[in-house]
Amino acid sequence: MNNNQPVILASGSAIRAAILKHHEIAFSVIKPGADESVIKTQASASGMGLEETAMQLAEAKCMAVAKNQKGIVIGADQILEFRGEAYDKPVDMAEARARLSEMQGETHSLINATVAARDGEIVWRNLERPRLTIRSMTGAEIDAYFEEVGDGVLSSVGAYQVETPAGAGLFKRISGDWFTVQGIAIYPLLAELRRQGVFGEQWKNPKPTLAGVIGFPISHSLSPLIHNEWARRARIEGEYRAIEVASDYDAFATAMDELQAQGFAGANVTIPHKENALRYAYRASDAAKTIGAANMLTFGDNAYADNSDSAGFKDALWANAPGANIETAMVLGAGGAARGVVAALRDIGCKEIRITNRTREKAEALGKEFGLEVMDWSARLPGLDACDLLVNTTSLGMTGQPALEIDLADLRSNAIVYDIVYAPLETPLLRNARERGAATINGLEMLMHQARPGFAAWFGNRPYPVSPRVDDDLRELLVGTLKKRGAA
Ligand code: NAP
Repeated sequence: MNNNQPVILASGSAIRAAILKHHEIAFSVIKPGADESVIKTQASASGMGLEETAMQLAEAKCMAVAKNQKGIVIGADQILEFRGEAYDKPVDMAEARARLSEMQGETHSLINATVAARDGEIVWRNLERPRLTIRSMTGAEIDAYFEEVGDGVLSSVGAYQVETPAGAGLFKRISGDWFTVQGIAIYPLLAELRRQGVFGEQWKNPKPTLAGVIGFPISHSLSPLIHNEWARRARIEGEYRAIEVASDYDAFATAMDELQAQGFAGANVTIPHKENALRYAYRASDAAKTIGAANMLTFGDNAYADNSDSAGFKDALWANAPGANIETAMVLGAGGAARGVVAALRDIGCKEIRITNRTREKAEALGKEFGLEVMDWSARLPGLDACDLLVNTTSLGMTGQPALEIDLADLRSNAIVYDIVYAPLETPLLRNARERGAATINGLEMLMHQARPGFAAWFGNRPYPVSPRVDDDLRELLVGTLKKRGAA
């Protein structure tokens, strides 16, 4: 993207440059000549706190360049704090090894200061403090890690590079923004660059983005929590609302016309409007056409229907059971969600998909369309012993609904049981499967993953890509809400 004023990164860090590039900011690099050691020595002699020290370092680096340059200059600094002490980059591999051995099993913080100067004056300061927990490791594991990564880790204060697969594998948990962890608080910075008019006048005061979820009933929906949390993290002004619309098509179409007139960017659509959404749209994705229903409408000149249930199901499966070999699967139910699940299983190359439903004709119709084997709806399902994956797509087990009656005696202990119902979080089916030693995946995982395309399309429609993350912080937020409702 072309800026209408120069942007300079006052840092020699390759990862900071890569992050700006990833966000399509046009910039040049000038390495600052600031002597960091002088500032650090003065800071420690004067008893300055670590946050203030990080800020002073970021400002010094920024101003070393900005004093001679027009336009926007960005400076940043990161201090690792562990047990109240600041840690510098390790000087050699022995120190790196000692550092990691000491920090394994414990939590440390990365204090990140990012600043911007305009025409030689600091105009913006930002401080973040992500927290990182390194998993417990044996000495042999630590040795193997350093053998794999080599001395490149000496450029990092923590003796890890979280952006590499080996580095990411060291962690049990990371709380905070991913880009900030890597060295620069990109989202607050982008907000400031917009405010400074770097991307053009039209982005200076963008209209708040509006989006929502349409259903009947809808007050139970967790989607507003998910989208509003992602918007908050990316500092995007806007709101995602839950909107109840009566189940007939006319009411739906009138409500969608109204939302478009109000400037909504798009909406998720849930029961009972998924077919209505497909009917309302001018164009539809292949996924929506294959499934015969849409859970996303993107407005604009012509409403566009898409279905992210299938991708959400698949992404959650891979996120929770990476590398699982799913050759044979049993799908319970033949409603709208089942179609998306079957399409996803086809997509991942599942060779044998069996389906069963209370109303056999519906299972047969789906079976005919996708070429599936149809089973009788009974508690003891034939062929369960051969299944790598059992999926419940019925509403049984949901709060207020009867439990799913199914005999899991034949289920293999290494099978995966996936229930797309998310309230309660652990359905009777999942509890039963867990007690038998099977791996389980709950419906919240699919719910979080299916939300990503909508957020990217409506809130991410900016002069840089926004990539919403499914992580422990989001999971905790949703589980906390379900707990309050007595559903977790
Ligand atoms: P749907 O089209 O109405 O289908 C409902 C399915 O449940 C049908 O197969 C139906 O069987 C079966 N069913 C309902 N009551 C039953 C009963 N008493 N005994 C046996 N089977 C029964 O609904 P859907 O859109 O597929 O959604 C199904 C579930 O998935 C809901 O709980 C929904 O919340 C959940 N879901 C979760 C996500 C997520 O992101 N986690 C996404 C989509 C849906 P019949 O054909 O015999 O009626």
